[in-house]
Amino acid sequence: MEKEHAYRNIKLCTKDCLCLFVCPTGASDTENGQIDFEKCIGCGACSRACPSHAITMVPNKMPAQQKKSKPVVDELFKIANSKIEQIKILKYQLENAKTEEEKRLLKALIHANKVMTEDIVREAGYMLPQSKNTNKLLHNLLKQDNGENKEVIEKLLNKIKVNE
Ligand code: SF4
Ligand code: SF4
Repeated sequence: MEKEHAYRNIKLCTKDCLCLFVCPTGASDTENGQIDFEKCIGCGACSRACPSHAITMVPNKMPAQQKKSKPVVDELFKIANSKIEQIKILKYQLENAKTEEEKRLLKALIHANKVMTEDIVREAGYMLPQSKNTNKLLHNLLKQDNGENKEVIEKLLNKIKVNE
């Protein structure tokens, strides 16, 4: 298996340019804009050629998660859980919102809370996807989920193997 594979950030991609010409296998030329994982041989030519820095080479085997102290772990879950609670309240308020303006504001707050949660978790520095902490967080989210995100959480749990 190749050591790394190319991933394209579609938001940065300006389409139809260099990676399509330099890729030796055609892996970068797909209908859905994603790099074809099966065809990619990890040569990195697309990443070096991309003028928009839209392609990143990502190792197939992620490094082990660094150890974190219990107080840090505890704080993370406290903050993450409080954000989840806030999002639940906001969703309830959204269901009962009367005006379009109110709905727009509540949607923005829900989005902001989700982004903040992600940032807090990331800034805490120990939420590598393959870590035990991420796995534990996903299991906790699954327990608290009302069915809305169940499918996505289960997919992540199946896909991301813990390596620490
Ligand atoms: S790393 Fe190489 S094989 Fe993979 S998509 Fe880029 S150019 Fe193609
Ligand atoms: S070279 Fe970069 S910007 Fe151009 S199509 Fe490829 S990924 Fe997109």
